[in-house]
Amino acid sequence: NSLKIMEEMETLLKDNSLESEIKIVKTGCFGLCAEGPIVVVYPEGAMYTRVGVADVKDIVEEHLLKGRIVKRLLAGEKEAEDISKALESVDFFKRQHRIALRNCGRINPENIDEYIAFDGYRALEKVLTGMTPKAVIDTIKRSGLRGRGGGGFPTGIKWEFAAKQVSDQKYVCCNADEGDPGAFMDRSVLEGDPHSLIEAMSIAGYAIGATEGFIYVRAEYPIAVKRLQIAIGQAKEYGILGDNVLGTGHKFDLEIRLGAGAFVCGEETALMTSIEGHRGEPRPRPPFPAVKGLWQKPTILNNVETYANIPVIILEGAEWFASIGTEKSKGTKVFALGGKINNTGLVEVPMGTTLREVVYDIGGGIPKGKKFKAAQTGGPSGGCIPVSHLDTPIDYDSLIALGSMMGSGGLIVMDEDNCMVDIAKFFLEFTVDESCGKCPPCRIGTKRMHEILERITEGKGEDGDIEKLELLAKNIKASALCGLGQTAPNPILSTLKYFRDEYEAHVYQKK
Ligand code: SF4
Repeated sequence: NSLKIMEEMETLLKDNSLESEIKIVKTGCFGLCAEGPIVVVYPEGAMYTRVGVADVKDIVEEHLLKGRIVKRLLAGEKEAEDISKALESVDFFKRQHRIALRNCGRINPENIDEYIAFDGYRALEKVLTGMTPKAVIDTIKRSGLRGRGGGGFPTGIKWEFAAKQVSDQKYVCCNADEGDPGAFMDRSVLEGDPHSLIEAMSIAGYAIGATEGFIYVRAEYPIAVKRLQIAIGQAKEYGILGDNVLGTGHKFDLEIRLGAGAFVCGEETALMTSIEGHRGEPRPRPPFPAVKGLWQKPTILNNVETYANIPVIILEGAEWFASIGTEKSKGTKVFALGGKINNTGLVEVPMGTTLREVVYDIGGGIPKGKKFKAAQTGGPSGGCIPVSHLDTPIDYDSLIALGSMMGSGGLIVMDEDNCMVDIAKFFLEFTVDESCGKCPPCRIGTKRMHEILERITEGKGEDGDIEKLELLAKNIKASALCGLGQTAPNPILSTLKYFRDEYEAHVYQKK
């Protein structure tokens, strides 16, 4: 629909002889999915939402020709004191702090010049012309940046391990194999700002002494893949990738590898095995990838969102970044809001923002005035947070303390009508399907848990089933080989922790 709106806009601009004065820019996602398609008119910054092809005539004739805002389409109209502040006055945006998403919805991702116009590649230039690799790593360490893909490992320390290895070849990898149901944070950056990833990976290459990089992206993201290909081609043309990066002698090149959609390939060792051309199965750690990764060479692997923060940290400084967030979780986090929430979409908030602020102030609350029941963070590896913890500041450690985890940033909201046993079963079905089958606790154990859950939800649960489920979950968590199996029981354990009464109601009252 957005492309049809664009075509209509082009036609009407031509009909009104405005095509030389007004430029149409196709951007990536704004984040406010629930209100799309979106058109923003600059310099005013007036944001029109839920635009249809028929509305384009009004935007052209009223706004562009007569300078009058089309109020019925304007987001934040009521809050804006001044129409030029309409964009910033939209609740959904004004509480956000967009670092990783800074360019999404702002630039044409297929045009390198627009990225450069918004400070693009300045961080790479700064690093290559004035910083030692050690200084780069120190900056990332001091910033406090932790991996945004799930585990939250400190990025600078990971880079330092790899930098210290002596090897004829090292690699920089990007995990763009986002697979959590309902998560699309990385996809948005890839589609909306692919050059930020290229810039960050080149900086990482310089910091650890690697000349080659791989972006592992799922083939189900065709627009992301296409835009990455375009961006890599442009970066080569501009001398940003290749044997003599920006004329400094630094060598760095990138290749894309397509994943076939297996969730386990988001696990770092499976991802690297897949890049090497083998079946994507995890391998035991240690050795860790920073010591022996791709083809047994030192390798760093970060996800898209982690990399998207790097150029800004280099330009603005470690202290600036560390001033945002909480004591142990610095910076911001992107969440994909889904489920029973009014403003579904992507948001980026400082670490430490409470779940209540995300759900109510930014997410606009629960549709139809229903009550909030719980939110699932971390997708199938995470757990649920009940209403009693709505005011918990969201950061890595507080989520783990609640029995959930940050994960890559999926945040699914449940209302009073959701059955939490069904929710646990939904996530478990996903992990049963996605288990690679290499180790018995995950291959067999998740199936047995699923059988018990089926019995319970069909009203055929027996005395002792809940205890058996709990015991199995704890054992699988302790004995599975990789993160997929170790975290698969989390949705069950957290729903048992906070909603045990619902399990008991199914078993003992046959609901
Ligand atoms: Fe494969 Fe599951 Fe074992 Fe991981 S835990 S290696 S996904 S069977």
